[in-house]
Amino acid sequence: MRILPWPNLAQMAFAIRDDDIGFFTPPEKLQLLYESAIRKGFKISLSVIPMQKATNDLSVPPAFRGKNTFHSVKENKELIEYLLPMVKERVVDILQHGYSHGGSSFTPELLLNGRKMGRLLCDGKAILEEIFDEEIKVFVPPWEFLTAKTWRELANKKLNVSMATHKYLLGTPFTVDKLRALINLVAFNITEQHCFTVEVTKVSDVLNVSPAYRHYIGGYDSRQSADRTFWSFKTIFEKLYAGNGCLIAANHYWEYFIDWEDRITSKLQKKYFDQMLDFVDGKKHVWKCGLNEIVQWVKLRESVIAEEKDDGVIVCAPQRVAGLTVWLSSCEHIDSRLLDTDPIEVEGTDGSRYAVLNMKPDEKVHITHG
Ligand SMILES: [Zn+2]
Repeated sequence: MRILPWPNLAQMAFAIRDDDIGFFTPPEKLQLLYESAIRKGFKISLSVIPMQKATNDLSVPPAFRGKNTFHSVKENKELIEYLLPMVKERVVDILQHGYSHGGSSFTPELLLNGRKMGRLLCDGKAILEEIFDEEIKVFVPPWEFLTAKTWRELANKKLNVSMATHKYLLGTPFTVDKLRALINLVAFNITEQHCFTVEVTKVSDVLNVSPAYRHYIGGYDSRQSADRTFWSFKTIFEKLYAGNGCLIAANHYWEYFIDWEDRITSKLQKKYFDQMLDFVDGKKHVWKCGLNEIVQWVKLRESVIAEEKDDGVIVCAPQRVAGLTVWLSSCEHIDSRLLDTDPIEVEGTDGSRYAVLNMKPDEKVHITHG
């Protein structure tokens, strides 16, 4: 008996994360970019800047660029009106992207003394929760930079993160989980074998759901570089697919409209974005999900207890778990006499047997051998 990492027979989790959504984001741009992805059943995790600073950066429209003024996403009524129904229908989910996205990769905004940084984190989270009426669970640090202090604040606020694994392993407090993550990362690099924990890593109670691939404009300045980037995406995908991993593709909507044109200007980047999604869509048993769902699921799955008995294993969890998938060896059977919902048994292409369980809190599922 083996419990699979993802729900409902999924072999892999796949999510799209778009950063830099904020006061300046026109909903039409999101619509143009993601319409077909949403139609194919992909979810988009939008990482939203609560109080965007008009820095001298391409992610800010030319009319505001470099003015250093602050703008709350709350003031972008059209965007909120556009997103709210999609958030309710779980087509998109909301993550927190820093507070103002001010500073730079050398001096990130959250490199501040504890009190002020804690307040900014809190204020930003409150702005997003008020608008979207959802609990914010995942924090995306601008420029993927976190200090140990910010990490502790995130843990206090029960936030998880999404950033490059090696970056947070350098800048966060030491824990046993961190040591484990480090060993996994080294083992991964030596053996080139994927460990599930490399893309979903735990340090203290904070989970890191790290982006494994970045669909950034640099990869699409010529047909050759686009082909190379696509090849590297497929390599990452296959590795994670084989290892039951989790692939988060990071994206920036504004890169497709440089410099803030109404139409898509980075056509090659868009073409390969669609090609990437077609590729994923063509694979069986991929869980198309958002980052909030990943975090929620990993924590839920962690709470599942499998207790070894003389005649088999008892599986149970303190909370309701829907879609828990177990692989059964040829001599194992589920004793479903005491269950409220019958397990769904499925045969895999290789002849393996799987059962999908919908368990009520504390319900005991008895898997017997023989
Ligand atoms: Zn950003």
